[in-house]
Amino acid sequence: MCRIFFYLLTFLFVSTEVFSQDLNYAKKTINTLTSSTYWGRGYTNNGMAKAADFIESEFKSFGLIPLDTKGFKQSFSFPVNTFPKDMKLEINGKALKPGRDFIVHQASKGVNTTTNLIPKDSATYLNAQAGIVLSIQPKLTWSVAQQPMDYTLIEVTNKSLPGIPKTIKAEITNQFIPNFTAANVIGMVKGTTKPDSILVFTAHYDHLGGMGNSTFFPGANDNASGIALLLDLARYYAKNPSKYSIVFIAFAAEEAGLLGSKYFTENPLFPLSQIRFLWNLDLMGNGDAGATVVNATLHTKEFALLHKINDANQYLVKINPRGKAANSDHYYFTEKGVPAFFMYTQGGVSAYHDIDDIAATLPLTSYQQIFKLLVTFNQQLIN
Ligand SMILES: [Zn+2]
Repeated sequence: MCRIFFYLLTFLFVSTEVFSQDLNYAKKTINTLTSSTYWGRGYTNNGMAKAADFIESEFKSFGLIPLDTKGFKQSFSFPVNTFPKDMKLEINGKALKPGRDFIVHQASKGVNTTTNLIPKDSATYLNAQAGIVLSIQPKLTWSVAQQPMDYTLIEVTNKSLPGIPKTIKAEITNQFIPNFTAANVIGMVKGTTKPDSILVFTAHYDHLGGMGNSTFFPGANDNASGIALLLDLARYYAKNPSKYSIVFIAFAAEEAGLLGSKYFTENPLFPLSQIRFLWNLDLMGNGDAGATVVNATLHTKEFALLHKINDANQYLVKINPRGKAANSDHYYFTEKGVPAFFMYTQGGVSAYHDIDDIAATLPLTSYQQIFKLLVTFNQQLIN
């Protein structure tokens, strides 16, 4: 090899190593976490626990250290309503596809019946005796419920309906789990000179899981994308430790109501007062329209620093400031007085809490730029 090429290659290697973010790693991680093996990282087929194992093994391979003598996982329990079994629905004799044509509301109880439907209004049909309500929705958006209702609520899109709904055949089984156990996964890169000062990155790894035994919600943007970035940052800081300790927390049960982050803030593994700053990463897969930062109006100095770095480097096309919001895992930290930003990307795909939030169409427009922005922000914040 010619020497000049050797130097050139060395230079290229060193210059990319400065940040070491890797879109291929992100894509691989998102593909893994959105595969059927993990079944939407929820409450059936052991999906959430499998995702926790995956994150733990990545933490271990990077050389992160656990904060608890018991290991990287912090377990907690809560009640949840699930749909583990086969799910069938026919309206006017036409079979509908779960996830695509209809969803069973997350709080529904099961039902096994063939009956007629009575119109309540133009968008609602029901049979009170059978305990069934059919609701016509412009978009199907699923979620997680901790308690079941005493009836079955089925949501359908207008375009999947074969005319005015008159008859319904439904075979739906719910399983209420009073004590579902989940785990936050927590690892650290110890600070070189001020290890008691801590910077934190958080992202939730859970999603909605499966609805029946043939449909799951992949949750590529929400939030395999945030976990990919969190793992990428963990890998980077393991090789390039900072003077402060950096803690990485992959939260469980965000979609069930911020339960993992609530549990952690009530049972922290170090005093929360040691946190100099926390970044929560959720919906990191877009970026065509920039990103929004929650708590920007709360921490004006830090937001000004973020803006300055972004302007100087042209990382994101726009950073929208937003006030406080209880919309992701930063919330309970904010309530405890921990300085925190929550960033989410905008533009690109609009799939949200539906079966179309898949890896293949996720643009990851700003992924690399956000990586650089966060690392530079942390660097300048502590210097
Ligand atoms: Zn989310």
